[in-house]
Amino acid sequence: MTEHTLFHKIRDREIPATVVFEDDEVMAFKDIHPKAPTHLLFIAKKDTDFVPSIDDLTEKTAHVPGLLILKAQAFAKEHGIVGYQLKFHVGKAGGQEVFYLHLHFLSEQKIEA
Ligand code: AMP
Repeated sequence: MTEHTLFHKIRDREIPATVVFEDDEVMAFKDIHPKAPTHLLFIAKKDTDFVPSIDDLTEKTAHVPGLLILKAQAFAKEHGIVGYQLKFHVGKAGGQEVFYLHLHFLSEQKIEA
């Protein structure tokens, strides 16, 4: 597989981003055009978890959205964020621009990072 999207480059630190969370499985960074005081993007890091879009999920990758949601939930708890929105844009017609599955995390509460 030779896919190399913008978010592969952020994951591999080939282009800069403001990373606010990272572990072995997931990375979260600030959206460059925030639509809320906190606007983060959560991505799965492992090549085996790579999927372009919700539209492309298979049984092999069906766990990935849940993984991203769990990490977002933990991030919110850790930062005392009590209300937030989670979104997947699906397909070009659904507003998706980057075909590396990502979870938008938006909150009116601001984080310090
Ligand atoms: P989507 O429309 O769901 O594909 O979301 C892609 C998001 O990536 C948009 O909200 C963009 O603002 C954001 N974005 C594009 N380039 C960058 C970048 N270099 N760093 C951080 N976020 C970006």
